[in-house]
Amino acid sequence: MNMIVIDLEWNQSSTGSEPETALIPFEIIEIGAVKYSEGGLIVSEFSELIKPRVYRKMHNYTSKLVHLQMEELEKGDTFENVSRRFFEWCGPDPVFVTWGPGDITVIQQNLKFFGLPLLSEGPVAYIDAQKLFSLACEDGTKTRRNLEYAVDHFGIEKDIPFHRAFSDAYYTALVLKHILEKDEEVIKFVSYDITYPPSDKEHEISMVFPTYEKWISRVYKDRDAAFKDKDTLSTRCYLCGKKARRKIRWFSMGDRKYYCLGECEEHGLLKGKIIMHPCTLPEGVFVVKTLRLVGEKDAAVVEKKFNKVREYRKHNTSGFPAKRTAKNPSGPVPEDKGE
Ligand SMILES: [Zn+2]
Repeated sequence: MNMIVIDLEWNQSSTGSEPETALIPFEIIEIGAVKYSEGGLIVSEFSELIKPRVYRKMHNYTSKLVHLQMEELEKGDTFENVSRRFFEWCGPDPVFVTWGPGDITVIQQNLKFFGLPLLSEGPVAYIDAQKLFSLACEDGTKTRRNLEYAVDHFGIEKDIPFHRAFSDAYYTALVLKHILEKDEEVIKFVSYDITYPPSDKEHEISMVFPTYEKWISRVYKDRDAAFKDKDTLSTRCYLCGKKARRKIRWFSMGDRKYYCLGECEEHGLLKGKIIMHPCTLPEGVFVVKTLRLVGEKDAAVVEKKFNKVREYRKHNTSGFPAKRTAKNPSGPVPEDKGE
């Protein structure tokens, strides 16, 4: 695996008035990266500054955190040139490693804005070392630590300052080495950047991880179309492939989240969760569904949510219509018949 540990610094609008803000909310001003080989050896380094084209004034937050001044950036090269050199340096089929989920989104948005080829036209698989740290050293689900916390946790020597692209990539690589020494299995928990959804059915993502399954759908014209697809409603057990018996059918909680509870004869309780993501180009929605085998405690949480929603609907028929309409997309999911 050609692993590239990467960190970006970016700048943003100081006024929010530029017409480009929606297309490129964050403009990359520095790329730092190291090549990570077997056993955590750093075999090559990359570090370059980028001369910004959209946001020519440094945002307060950026100059405070990153300690970069515009005069310095003016000496950098264009994003087109730096990114071309960067991808050449990466070599074939790089797998990117980041600290947290933001960097890949920002690369994709910048590539698109400057009319360059994307990392992938759809979701991008990458390794989020921040998530891996949580899986190997903490609860694995909710807790997320900053990079310096992880550096301290492993007693890594802090020999260069934080918050510059190269140094953060360098520390991320050192932390990753320690994480994998502690539990090499966590590398299986690949993340997906979903800035751009799968273009069609063929490119949908379906991944079975050690403790759950994830499915990223193509784009549907709206929620109803998404829920008409039996693949959206399906709750097959990811270990044996058998249909799970439905205990609580899909119900909505808030505007974008849906849950259900099933039971596999062989493997037990199965919790389903859907997050409905709106998208433009093409206009519509796509589904990220996770199915996870859970214990009684997690199943009870789903049941509690379901009862809360049901009670709410019973007593608030005016504010929370039982019938789901285009204006009230949080209404119940149309009756799903079996799968
Ligand atoms: Zn099963």
